Amino acid sequence: MMAMSDQGLRASVDLMRRRGLGPEAISVFEHYFEQLQAGALGTIPEDSIEPLGDIQALGEVKVADDEARAALSKTAVIKLNGGLGTGMGMTGAKSALEVKDGLTFLDIIALQVLALRERWDVELPLVLMNSFRTSEESLKILAKYPDLPVQGLPLDFIQSAEPKLRPDDLMPVQWPADPELEWCPPGHGDVYVSLVTSGVLDALLEKGIRYAFLSNSDNLGATCDPDVAAWMVEHGLPYVAEVCRRTKSDRKGGHLAVRKSDGRIVLRDTAMVAEGEERFFRDIKRHSTFNANNVWIDLEVLRERMTAKQGVLGLPIIVNRKNVDPADPSSPEVIQMESAMGTAIEVFEGSEAILVPRTRFRPVKTTNDLLVIRSDFFSLDDGYHVVATVDGPEPYVDLDSAYRFVPGFEKRFPKGVPSMRDCTSLRVIGDPVFGRNVRCVGDVLIDGYRRVLDDAVLGELPVPATSPAATPRDLRTVDEHLKAILSTLEPSPTEWTRLTEALGLVVARDVRSKVDLPGFDNSSMDGYAVRAESLAAAADAPVRLRVVGEVAAGDDPAFSVGPGEAARIMTGAPIPEGADAVIAVEDTDGAASGEVECRASVPRHRYVRPRGEDVASGTVIVSAGEVVGARTIALLAACGHAGVEVHRRPHVVVLSTGTELVEPGEPLGPGQIHDSNSSMLWAAAVGAGASAEVRGAVGDSEKDLLAALDDIVTRADVVITSGGVSMGAYDVVKSALRGKGIDFVKVAMQPGKPQGYGLLTGPGGKPVPLFALPGNPVSSFVSFEVFVRPALRRLMRLTPEKRRLRPATLISGVESYGGRRQFGRAVVSRSAEGTLVAVPVAGQGSHFVADLSRANALFVVPEDVTELVAGEVVDVLLLDKEM
Ligand code: AMP
Ligand code: MG
Repeated sequence: MMAMSDQGLRASVDLMRRRGLGPEAISVFEHYFEQLQAGALGTIPEDSIEPLGDIQALGEVKVADDEARAALSKTAVIKLNGGLGTGMGMTGAKSALEVKDGLTFLDIIALQVLALRERWDVELPLVLMNSFRTSEESLKILAKYPDLPVQGLPLDFIQSAEPKLRPDDLMPVQWPADPELEWCPPGHGDVYVSLVTSGVLDALLEKGIRYAFLSNSDNLGATCDPDVAAWMVEHGLPYVAEVCRRTKSDRKGGHLAVRKSDGRIVLRDTAMVAEGEERFFRDIKRHSTFNANNVWIDLEVLRERMTAKQGVLGLPIIVNRKNVDPADPSSPEVIQMESAMGTAIEVFEGSEAILVPRTRFRPVKTTNDLLVIRSDFFSLDDGYHVVATVDGPEPYVDLDSAYRFVPGFEKRFPKGVPSMRDCTSLRVIGDPVFGRNVRCVGDVLIDGYRRVLDDAVLGELPVPATSPAATPRDLRTVDEHLKAILSTLEPSPTEWTRLTEALGLVVARDVRSKVDLPGFDNSSMDGYAVRAESLAAAADAPVRLRVVGEVAAGDDPAFSVGPGEAARIMTGAPIPEGADAVIAVEDTDGAASGEVECRASVPRHRYVRPRGEDVASGTVIVSAGEVVGARTIALLAACGHAGVEVHRRPHVVVLSTGTELVEPGEPLGPGQIHDSNSSMLWAAAVGAGASAEVRGAVGDSEKDLLAALDDIVTRADVVITSGGVSMGAYDVVKSALRGKGIDFVKVAMQPGKPQGYGLLTGPGGKPVPLFALPGNPVSSFVSFEVFVRPALRRLMRLTPEKRRLRPATLISGVESYGGRRQFGRAVVSRSAEGTLVAVPVAGQGSHFVADLSRANALFVVPEDVTELVAGEVVDVLLLDKEM
């Protein structure tokens, strides 16, 4: 075996020489080969490492502009661009795929670099590491940007290649069917060697470029961040790896850890986990960050190290077993020896990790990722960063296998991908073709569709209960109860509403402008209205024009301006007949009468705001579905509208029940309490955009309650009662309204288990929804958020109907009832990295009004979870808008 594998090494080296690979590449291969022969598995056992301790968070790094510029002026961007996108069914360079707005990965990378150069006035070279398969196609795309190349540097260099080996005798494999498949790139760890062998490292250093930012070209979040660059320079670091906080769904990617033997930081990738140790690797509490594969390196340190070691950095090998033809699982098995770029962290004394926001890790690995990035959930800002257009977590997308490869994907979204702004999840079973302008709302499940029509709004479909098994049969789930409520409701009728009363309402019909804006040609400057031709000669020598009049804003000039004439004019004043331009007063002697001396020529239309430039009469200025805000109101008013057709604002009447209740401010007798629900529910309704009225409290008497409701129903669009819905002897809401159109049910939630809902009959048979909420203030509040608010939003036709849930990290553990969805109260804030953290308030009982008022969020513990520990991620529903 030994002799045979020596033979294998010789045969491989021979092939590499014949392929023209340099001595460094061959030394590295020999080094790997020796490791392989020595039985190296390339694993890092758990007992040899400790979790990465506290590290710097990028959000806490403070950098002055001149430091950032200084650091960037010495930095180059290197993109690993050898990927072929085989996982997405592509044969060429993955980065040539269109990602967004007609731009490929490479276009966006080029534009990001050009934007940084302009913003910081730096040279910032961009260099791709290509494979021989990706070079030509990639350079063709970059050729669109003539300013991109930097003197003395190529736009790319080609990574090395090595033979694939037979596992039994470690001989280079033979595959005459396609001899190119006998070769593989030695992993992205090859970047360091190829930087040297290509001469790019020396060329960069010669230009005074000392640092390089290395990242994958499919990760558009990896822009050359000036703050990281400056931090690295300030601390004189040889090597910096970016890491992100790991969530439950990131159990796969590699992580950094500290090697016990020498205290150095090491990278443990998936392939480096020792057998039987997957549970440690997956433990996101123990290894709480993952490697984003964005790396910063000091090129001088790299050159020193490479020179000292004859080009062998000594990266740990990764032994990959694949088929010689990756597309053919029946082709012979081969060994590919690879190294990972990120493992170089262990080579340099003083390497550091930095915690960066998730936005710096946005790789497109699957067509699911592609759909989200192409959709309107993201847009490109003016630095070509990919930014979310809405708050909250990215929608979860799971497309069927028909969409897995790019050609199948493109064929099924011929007119673009759906709108995902209001979508929390999209799951597609089957292979429908999607029409134009499709919108996904909330959780969307497409199952059994043959095609999705143009303009379809998806998401009204039943969602399976989160965990039916955990829910006893006499309970409704939260989702079932909400669905039952919403199914009875239609958007409110529409009516013409004055502008000052329409704030927050949804426009029901497109509105067209009644006028041109501006309504007449007018001046944008104080100056003189002239005929441009009169000043043709003024570029060489001053020209004198006769002043024939003056026009101020609001005037209607009766005279006209002829050749050789001028009229004094003020900003906003109409341009008199005959004039076609304005010369600014600064370019004249400012004469009020007689003759004015003009010292500049002007082109026609200079400083003239033409009629209809902003809005042409008859064009649509506000579309159905838009929410009326201050700026909409400005536009409507400017275009001649005193009001707008909107969905009516619902009127909510709030009624409390309980003999113990006393109005706030009144003295309390024995056993009495102040009625806090009335004003709380009133405020919540107004906050949701409704109009509201407090009816006050009625005692626990069926007769009084029914009399109050008879009165309320004459003017209410929605009634909210609180109290009297549980099992007690005086729970009169329940006893009085059962059988009168109101259903009383138990909902699998905590707090808020007893709920009543149904339709009362108002004047003319109008259905009036009534919510009978439990009496404990916290239960009442949670019930409002979970059921009443979405209902009010549906009546107002506001989207989304449900508040979006966002992930937050729990700071302390909580316990919960099994089988019920718990809505706890928490104070949520933003951590330095920009993620949300949730601190549960002390008093989780339904009667703690003070703790309720301190909270700014509800956290949601699912039905099948009974305990959450500190550090786990929960969904939170933010109660205040800004955060
Ligand atoms: P009930 O559902 O009527 O049994 O009420 C449950 C608890 O909530 C009792 O402790 C009531 O005193 C209290 N409660 C009911 N209505 C109100 C209210 N409007 N304001 C404050 N507390 C209330
Ligand atoms: Mg009561």
